[in-house]
Amino acid sequence: MAIYQYRCGECGTFDVSRPMGTAAAVESCAGCGGEASRVFSAPHLARTPAPIARALQAQEASRDEPRVVERAPSRPSAAPPADPRHALLPRP
Ligand SMILES: [Zn+2]
Repeated sequence: MAIYQYRCGECGTFDVSRPMGTAAAVESCAGCGGEASRVFSAPHLARTPAPIARALQAQEASRDEPRVVERAPSRPSAAPPADPRHALLPRP
């Protein structure tokens, strides 16, 4: 099955699931019953690794509804420097 996107002049865009290659140029809108024309968009290929996809979704979700926190998140403990000379460098 493939997901095809259609746009209704009244209700906006909606998705329709059909077997691949069977999408009609015009589909009836589920909201108002009017004609909706097909919108050609980029295919939804899942090539992004799952952890990155989750991070991107969380980032996108926080754009409209940011998570409210009580305090700043704790910093992870700094790993010891690999080179002992790095310990002599000034710290911010
Ligand atoms: Zn409609």
